Amino acid sequence: MATRNGLTLGGVVPFSTVDFPGRLAAVLFTQGCPLRCRYCHNPHLRRRAASPARDWAATVAWLRRRVGLLDAVVFSGGEPTIQPGLADALAEVRALGFATGLHSAGTHPRRLSQALKLLDWIGLDVKAPFDRYAAVTGSIGSGAQARRALDAVLASGISYELRTTVHAALLGAADLLAIAEDLQARRVRRWVLQVFRPTGCVDAALLAPAGPGWLDAVLPSLRSRVPDIVVR
Ligand code: SF4
Repeated sequence: MATRNGLTLGGVVPFSTVDFPGRLAAVLFTQGCPLRCRYCHNPHLRRRAASPARDWAATVAWLRRRVGLLDAVVFSGGEPTIQPGLADALAEVRALGFATGLHSAGTHPRRLSQALKLLDWIGLDVKAPFDRYAAVTGSIGSGAQARRALDAVLASGISYELRTTVHAALLGAADLLAIAEDLQARRVRRWVLQVFRPTGCVDAALLAPAGPGWLDAVLPSLRSRVPDIVVR
């Protein structure tokens, strides 16, 4: 059964200090994602289930009881921008007085552009050089969509964080340099490199540890293009 506004939720984290910088947030995980990233740590959320695990109206009622206890609500996934009801859901959450955040891989740039007007912060993935996206996401055309999403975020003026998950088997030094040059051309100053963690990953070929030091070796070249790089 679809929720009233089409938003399907797979789960909730009631309190998080790490999903919206500087804010205490609840995280709502939407169901469904068109990408098939090999390092995905939420594979159980990729399929859009016929029935949401959590009812939207009940979730809003639950959030109403959190007013004054939380600063923000973050929509994560899965990929929230596949949800036709995303803008309505953001507006509903904002009406309760919460700041709104979004984690997105930029798969639906048009819907993302609508959502940006209702967001206070976005964490956007930049998964690969845009012409090599399918090698990481398993989805032809995903690079062009992600490029449009990035340009929409940068044009919007909202607070953002760009994130790239780094695994030596998926992205080499040349790939990271290509991303850095693209971000430099867009005048991006800050970039987060997320070192792959095996939690939730079901691709056994990625679980062997990468050789030490390869990322450290390329960091100076990356920082000469994007000055504020955070590795976490
Ligand atoms: S975009 Fe996120 S949820 Fe979708 S497959 Fe990739 S890592 Fe998993």
